[in-house]
Amino acid sequence: MKIGKNVFVTGGAGFIGSHLVDRLIENHNVTVYDNLSSGKKEFISQYFDKKNFSFIQSDLLDMEKLSHAMENQDFVFHFAANSDVRLGAEKTDIPLKQNTIATYNVLESMRINNVKNIVFPSSCTVYGETNITSIPENYGPMIPVSLYGASKLASEGLITAYCSMFDMNALVFRFANIVGSRGTHGVIFDFIKKLKNNADELEILGDGKQIKSYLHIDDCLDAMLFAVEHSNNKINIFNLGTEDWINVDKIAGIVVEEMELKNVKFKYTGGSRGWKGDIPRIMLSIKKMEKLGWKPKYNSEKAVGMTVKALIKEVV
Ligand code: NAD
Repeated sequence: MKIGKNVFVTGGAGFIGSHLVDRLIENHNVTVYDNLSSGKKEFISQYFDKKNFSFIQSDLLDMEKLSHAMENQDFVFHFAANSDVRLGAEKTDIPLKQNTIATYNVLESMRINNVKNIVFPSSCTVYGETNITSIPENYGPMIPVSLYGASKLASEGLITAYCSMFDMNALVFRFANIVGSRGTHGVIFDFIKKLKNNADELEILGDGKQIKSYLHIDDCLDAMLFAVEHSNNKINIFNLGTEDWINVDKIAGIVVEEMELKNVKFKYTGGSRGWKGDIPRIMLSIKKMEKLGWKPKYNSEKAVGMTVKALIKEVV
């Protein structure tokens, strides 16, 4: 698939979106559309003076503004979402509005403006709780156990339907945990923040045994851009992760060591899940991406270690 000249990045001020902008800015005109709810201006402010960059601070639920902003665009990377998987347990309408309806608005604006190509970051949460360790893309039935997972699966459904009905093309990536600098949520960010507030004790959600895959942001971007270049189907769905996993206790140990702390007491909230809707064990098969010609440079432990080093400097 060709990206084209004019690229529209929703959520481009966020963690993954801003790293994506760093990669795209060399060769494309980039428009970032972001309401800054979790994204940060400073992640993209280095481009504010560039002729081939524009920033629109606005909400995806503002359909009029969105469809106007998408005029003359060639390619959409739709990365805006409420990325807090835990939130759905308390605010049940957030995943529906910020993820599913926002995705509908993006697709509808694309249809109105005749924009044909979309990249969408979905999530391993669409599979729900399975009893296999290396989940392939064609696993089913998919039974999400969180409202976030449900909102991503619904978004995938809207994307494939728009592709079929309105001659669009899509790449959908089902991410494991993506980690790296500029991260503003997730287990590593949480642990560093908690330990900066209180270096004697670390609250760990669940029993510390939850085991998952972590993919470094550099690998994630390499993979997505490689897949865009090498995929020509109308709908292309890929898992992105590493073929190994690491548990929460081990992550806590790495954070404590890198922060050079001693005698930190781990306090567990208990139970096998970190929160309502958490999937305690998850690893994706990445064979489909490997067959295409990509594999990660860093395993989960290395990705976590690099991220801990980066976030210690960033998190206040
Ligand atoms: P993030 O929270 O850093 O980025 C999301 C961005 O979207 C933020 O800049 C936020 O301000 C913006 N945004 C949110 N709602 C918006 C709205 N209604 N209108 C306009 N802008 C809005 O999260 P991230 O980790 O960079 O995630 C990016 C995408 O990847 C999301 O779709 C997320 O669900 C998906 N994803 C991330 C992971 C991960 O491990 N980080 C895993 C699976 C999927």
